[in-house]
This record gives sequence, C-alpha cells and structure tokens, in this order.
Amino acid sequence: MNLVVDSGTVVTMGKKGIIKEGAIIIEGNQIVDVGKSTKLQHRYRGYEKLDAKGKIIIPGLINTHQHAAMSLLRGYADDYPLKAWLEEKIWPLEKHMTGQHIYVGALLTAVESIMSGTTTLNSMYHFTADENEAKAFEKTGIRATVGHVCFSWRKKEDKNALRMLAKNWHDKADGLIRASVDPHAPYTVDPEYMKELRETTKELNQKYASPESPIIWHIHVAETEDEPEKIRQAFKIEVKDGVFNYLDSLGVLDEDVIAAHCVALTARDVQVLKKRKVKVSHNPISNLKLASGVCPVPKLLKNNVTVALGTDSPCSNNTADMFEIMKTTALLHKGINKDPTVLPAEQVLRMATIEGAKALLWNKEIGSIETGKKADIAIIDFRKPHLTPLYNEASHLVYSAKAADVETVIINGKIIMENRKTTTINTDEVMQMAQKTKEKLLSKLGQ
Ligand SMILES: [Zn+2]
Repeated sequence: MNLVVDSGTVVTMGKKGIIKEGAIIIEGNQIVDVGKSTKLQHRYRGYEKLDAKGKIIIPGLINTHQHAAMSLLRGYADDYPLKAWLEEKIWPLEKHMTGQHIYVGALLTAVESIMSGTTTLNSMYHFTADENEAKAFEKTGIRATVGHVCFSWRKKEDKNALRMLAKNWHDKADGLIRASVDPHAPYTVDPEYMKELRETTKELNQKYASPESPIIWHIHVAETEDEPEKIRQAFKIEVKDGVFNYLDSLGVLDEDVIAAHCVALTARDVQVLKKRKVKVSHNPISNLKLASGVCPVPKLLKNNVTVALGTDSPCSNNTADMFEIMKTTALLHKGINKDPTVLPAEQVLRMATIEGAKALLWNKEIGSIETGKKADIAIIDFRKPHLTPLYNEASHLVYSAKAADVETVIINGKIIMENRKTTTINTDEVMQMAQKTKEKLLSKLGQ
C-alpha cells in the first residue's frame, strides 16, 4: 500500500527534528520521504491519504522489556517482595500455562501495546513449538524480538526451544519478528551454562541470522541488591565488585546484550557496561512496585551507556503503557537526584524510541521517522484539553499525553489501529479469551 500521512506535526526523532505541517510518504513497508506537506504533496498524488491535521506523529514506541504472556496474571499477586512474588505466587501458576495460554496472553499484551502507541516489544518468555508469543505477534502485526528464557534446570529443553525459535521465527513474518537468547538471570543460570548460551547464540546467528538482523541476548541483571548473595547461594560463587563484573569475568558480555533493571550497580559495573557496550533496559514502574531500587540512569548516560525503557511484565507494572513509563522515568530521577534538570522530556522520548531501537540493534530500521526506515508510527490526537495549549511537543508527549490519546498506529507500513479500532484482530474477542484463560488457570490451582 502507498500512503501519505499528511498535514500533521512530525516528531521525527531523527536529523530533521520536528516538522510542522509535515507529511510522511510510505511505500510498502518503508518510509520513502519525510518533509513539509506543501513540498511533498504534488509528488505523491494518487496515494492513499491519512489526514493528520491537529495531530502529532511519532515513531512507534519501543518497549525493551516485556514478558508478554504474563498479562494473564495481571493483578493476580500484588504487593509481594520479588522472591516471594516469583516463588510463591507467579511460578506455581505459570507451571500450568500451556502454549495456548501463552498465545492468548501475548495477544492481549500485543493489543494493549498497539492501543498505547507501542510498535515494538522485546519479550522474554517460554517458547513452545506450536503456540507461542511469536505467533501472537505475527497475528496482531506488532514488531517484536521474541526470546526463550533459559534456566540451569532445563538445559536440554532450552536448547531445543532456542533452535526452533531461531529457525522458525528469526527474521520472519515480513521481518517483523526477530529471535533472542534469554538467560533468565545470573542467579538462575550457572556460569558454565551462561558461557554455553553465548556459544549457542553464536551458532544460531551463523545459521539463521545476518549481521544486519542479529539474534541478541536478553537478560535480567542486578534487579535487586541481594543478587550477589543469591548467586552465592545458588552456585557457591563469591561475586566481587558487582554482578556485571562477574558476568564479564565469564566473557559473556557484548554489545548485543540488553540487560533489564540494573538497579544495583557498582562503579566497576558501570565501567563494564560502558566497555562492553551492553544496553540497559530501565523499568522504573516494575522496580518501584517491587521496591527493588532505582537504576542510576543519569550516571549511565554520563558514561555513554545506551539506556532504553521497558514496562516489564503486566503483572509487575501492571500495564504495558509506555506513556506512563516515560513520565515516571522523568519524575523519578528528578526526585531522587533533587534536580529538575535531570532527564528532560526530549531525552526521555529518545529513550522510548531511537535508544530503544539501538538497544535491540534494530536502529537501522526503526526508532525514528526517516527516509529508508520501516514505517512504524503512532499518530496522537492533540486536540484535547490536557494537551492544550501547545508549546513543546516533547513536553506534552512525556508529561501530559496518555495512552488513550493514540489514535492510529502503523507498523511495517500497515494500518494496525485506526481511530482506536484495531484492524488485525478483534479486541473484544481477545479480552474474552484472556478472561476464559484466567478461569482455566485458577481451576488448575484448585481455586
Ligand atoms: Zn523481567
């Protein structure tokens, strides 16, 4: 489909900055031109037109840490500490989740994400052969890196799952889906397995990927202050000078690693992150809800570490709303640093778009509205009391806009939501499926 998104304010997040009365020309799945409407109009007569007058067009938001299927557990167990939350509540229920349940949970998160302007997800979950998150994302048309989470106690199953995931899904669905290798955390993956998974990643890349579209690593690191103690208890290893320092001693860190949380970092850890070009996914709401701590984002940015944003799972957050994440990020760091100049709106918006793309090594294709990139955009209706008057687009996007202000979403050149109605899937049906799945899961627990 050839399409012109016309007469809106384009927040490109690229070299052209903000273009008022702008137009975006889309051919197939690609952006082929961006500029002033008046300049472009005559060149693209006959293209389908989407009028964006009074609206703001942004690159689709990029959520760099999700466990999409866990939307099924939204609100099931709140107000617990991380360890008890996982071990006593979440993992016992998850044991009963089948591929079909995972598929339904991922559909729900995909729909919720699309409706809140997110066009790319990075999701870590269990990959099962027949029904899985990748299939759900393909169905809804959302872009995603899909991982399989690895634990020491199931090495053989993990390797099979990773192979299937890479073979069947990497760079598939018209390039919408990429695969990743996801060691759960340094306290659930022993050092030998961690190294093995690095080798596996290399092999899978050689076999199923290209350098332009790599299979990356997605891991939780330093989510709580007692992580060194958890590693000691699990593997009898003394972690000195930080968890990243420990991982670096295993030789597993590289620029293709995206590490979620990073709340408990030593000075040495920050240097390791910088040296190895590891990417950080900052998940402020999940960290606040689980009272885990706060990632030292300003310090990381000062050290030129790429920091992107994530919601974490819908049961530790409890939404997939990246607008909430942007606002919380800006406020949290100002508050704890007692400095209102920290993390200005423009920078936070970068973290939710182009920095997110960099963190997933996908920035050649997404993260900004520029010629040659894939057409992943969100159109936001600014004709609302809480978005009036307008001085600064980035300010409104971070501090005032809400997910429900997102009106239309295009992913890979395809209109996935128009006037808040999803086009690829029936939202009501997805909600009904999720409700039924919740009841089935509870009955398995005898509740
Ligand atoms: Zn997580």
